[in-house]
Amino acid sequence: MNSVYMDNNATTALKKEALDAMLPYYTDIYGNASSKFYRVGRDAEQALYKLRESVAKSIGAEYVNEVYFTGSGCEADNWAIKGIAFANKKKGNHIITTKIEHHAILNACEYLEKKHGFEVTYLDVDEYGFVSPEAVEEAITDQTILISIMMANNEIGTVEPIKEIAEVAKKHKVIFHTDAVQAIGHIKVDVKELGVDMLSLSGHKFHGPKGVGALYIRNGVRIDNLIHGGGQERGKRAATENLAGIAGMAKALEIAVENLDKNMAHCKKMRDALIDGIKKNIPYCRLNGPEDEGRLCNNVNFSFQYVEGESILMMLDMKNVAASSGSACASGSLDPSHVLLAIGLPHEIAHGSLRLSVGEDTTQEEVDYVIEVLPPIIQRLREMSPLYEGVEK
Ligand SMILES: *Cc1c(COP(=O)(O)O)cnc(C)c1O
Repeated sequence: MNSVYMDNNATTALKKEALDAMLPYYTDIYGNASSKFYRVGRDAEQALYKLRESVAKSIGAEYVNEVYFTGSGCEADNWAIKGIAFANKKKGNHIITTKIEHHAILNACEYLEKKHGFEVTYLDVDEYGFVSPEAVEEAITDQTILISIMMANNEIGTVEPIKEIAEVAKKHKVIFHTDAVQAIGHIKVDVKELGVDMLSLSGHKFHGPKGVGALYIRNGVRIDNLIHGGGQERGKRAATENLAGIAGMAKALEIAVENLDKNMAHCKKMRDALIDGIKKNIPYCRLNGPEDEGRLCNNVNFSFQYVEGESILMMLDMKNVAASSGSACASGSLDPSHVLLAIGLPHEIAHGSLRLSVGEDTTQEEVDYVIEVLPPIIQRLREMSPLYEGVEK
């Protein structure tokens, strides 16, 4: 079997149409979008407007100028957290988030706590990774200036009740941000319908290019700059715009939105085949995250007792299967995933976890292949494990 890519929550392959949309900005339309006195600059400026309009439409923003382009999902998240915190310092110093956010959110919050005197509440989640809107409401104080809760979790695929949480935030007049980086392309994302004030997205998670993202900021929300310099992005984010990247992202997003229902149905089918196959063929395993309702259509995450996640990955790699254990950012460290610990897994079980994330290009043959090669890998690793000795006998 040729290489089987089952790590679409880490990144996705660039779509041909997205690449094609990018190329003109590396050749003919090389102007700086801020150079208005000559043609190639104006061409770039006009193209940028059209691209912003396209992204705004794809996420249901009311106004084109509510979309701000960034250099990544991490930048959008950092900007949302620090920008709101610093702009609202006089109003209060309290931020609410969860224990299962991406490190872009968690580490930005920790920085504000340690270096700038903010207080952060990290909400617990239940055993499936769900945040309760009631818990959000209970955590709000008269000092609360920001609530940031992800739309879909990148490790275990839990889809949070964002609309309900947005209502709670609105009722208490607190700004609400959601990291929708994993949600785009896998669930309907409409900022108006969700009622969020800010939303982060990243091109490379939905078959666009890497190194480009966006932050939706509803008009009327006051936010400080993260990057100072020129007047780009309405003076809110300096740097000459990455037009090619933005074009690739806008195109990929357009296609993702257009094909959402079809892709969701396909991913869900592949996901469920994997889940069923693993449950049937491997004993002592546990599905992490929701069973079905409230689970991202493309995410599978299992813990296998008595084995190490990293060993599974190495043996899968020898079979040409690309997968992940914990999150890509965290691998290399020996700490178990903060998400798996937050849903209550003991350390030794959190260590033996495997994430398989499918995509629109995943085939039934690939799924069958993984279900064929995985059980012997787990069996072999268990036979080598001192913890496993005696369990089977
Ligand atoms: C990938 C990811 C990010 C970071 O996006 P980058 O563009 O890689 O910086 C942020 N949040 C979530 C939930 C992600 O999955």
